Amino acid sequence: MTDDLSRILPEPWRVKVVEPIQLLDKRAREKHLKKAGYNLFAIPSEAVFIDLLTDSGTSAMSDEQWAAMMRGDESYAGSRNFFTFETTVREIFGFPYVIPTHQGRVAENLLFSTVLKPGQIVPNNTHFDTTRANVEANGGVALDLVVPEAKALDSEYPFKGNMDVVRLAEVLQKNPGKVPLVMLTMTNNSGGGQPVSLENVRAVKAVCEKYDVPLIIDACRFAENAYFIREREEACRNWSVISIVREIFTFADGCTMSAKKDGLANIGGFLALRQDTWVQNVKNRLVLIEGFPTYGGLAGRDLEVVARGLREVLDERYLQFRIGQVRRLGERLLEAGVPLVRPIGGHAVYLDARRFLPHVPPSQYPAQSLSVALYREGGVRSVEIGGVMFGRRDPKTGQEIAPELELVRLTIPRRVYSNTHLDYVAHVVIECFRNREAIRGVRIVKQAPFLRHFTAEFEALA
Ligand SMILES: *Cc1c(COP(=O)(O)O)cnc(C)c1O
Repeated sequence: MTDDLSRILPEPWRVKVVEPIQLLDKRAREKHLKKAGYNLFAIPSEAVFIDLLTDSGTSAMSDEQWAAMMRGDESYAGSRNFFTFETTVREIFGFPYVIPTHQGRVAENLLFSTVLKPGQIVPNNTHFDTTRANVEANGGVALDLVVPEAKALDSEYPFKGNMDVVRLAEVLQKNPGKVPLVMLTMTNNSGGGQPVSLENVRAVKAVCEKYDVPLIIDACRFAENAYFIREREEACRNWSVISIVREIFTFADGCTMSAKKDGLANIGGFLALRQDTWVQNVKNRLVLIEGFPTYGGLAGRDLEVVARGLREVLDERYLQFRIGQVRRLGERLLEAGVPLVRPIGGHAVYLDARRFLPHVPPSQYPAQSLSVALYREGGVRSVEIGGVMFGRRDPKTGQEIAPELELVRLTIPRRVYSNTHLDYVAHVVIECFRNREAIRGVRIVKQAPFLRHFTAEFEALA
């Protein structure tokens, strides 16, 4: 196939079921904003036209997945769907011990409550927020060791998700017996959906082996990461995506997974392990907090859906379209001069709100202000990843410290929106960019002591 044709290829599916969406008029949108205290989490989804809040649990299922739901075996123990699930995870990831959970954070909870002692350190390229919370809730220290290139927004470095192996070796050398495991998040969600290279996985494993510490992969976007490796890593040009996936996981001792991402499911997850050392403790706790080890908080039909989704996500035509669709949106915005994080990540486009709205100071939350503007302009819901989510109070002065980055994430659900929908999103963003001087900051009028971004209320500044 010529490059030209692959660039214009449409969605590799046709539509069988439709879910109507509607764009409310401007006055109704303004009313919703006011009522929600300018917090997009508080807007009912039916008042949203294009919902780019998250790619988690928002995938459209295939006809085969809907059919799989009818094959649910809802027996309490030993459901046949568990065995399909277990076989699928073993075949793709190569781990013999498979523990189902209802989402990724429970896999993290089971892992860290089993292996982590207070005061111990868990290095990661960048911890996802639930991973960090589970490390900290168990008394551990979550350490981010991503490569320095990750912080340069304009750098086109192809693997900004990579772990800094030199710093990792230093940490392991200086803290003997204090690091129960090393984690690698693929792709690096909190760092812009940027991939980790196969070479980096190998190098991380070599350091782990030297210090005899297990390597656990956060596998949420394993297929998207493998696709990037094929695209960007010379040695893997001619590999199939599944063979890259298998190669990656030969270097790991286990993985945590949210099937709400590359499982193409609306709920589900698992913890998978190579050795049986932790398995009994994990299962004991699983029974306490989730359910019996052959369902782990899921219905039999959900297990079947995830098993099917894990195979579908490895379809290369799907991945080509998926990664291409996100990139296409990013490129349209770049052409119009919209500042964003580069290279464009696997599951989202991240707008750089600080450069988008240079006249809005950090104390007036530029990323929040921009996400409000996108809803107001066109009913598009995005998510703020900036001062509202990550602002910290200086314990001495009481002053709020703004985080390094003020980003607005446009997260693309899998198989849900067409390119036409995303052309509309591009239009809305570009309109906001053209009229950026008119976008004003916001002020917090009400907030919770932690995770305030979910419930905070704001006032629009004049
Ligand atoms: C979503 C996510 C998780 C947590 O999974 P949930 O299913 O939301 O509990 C962990 N790590 C990464 C990288 C994620 O994106």
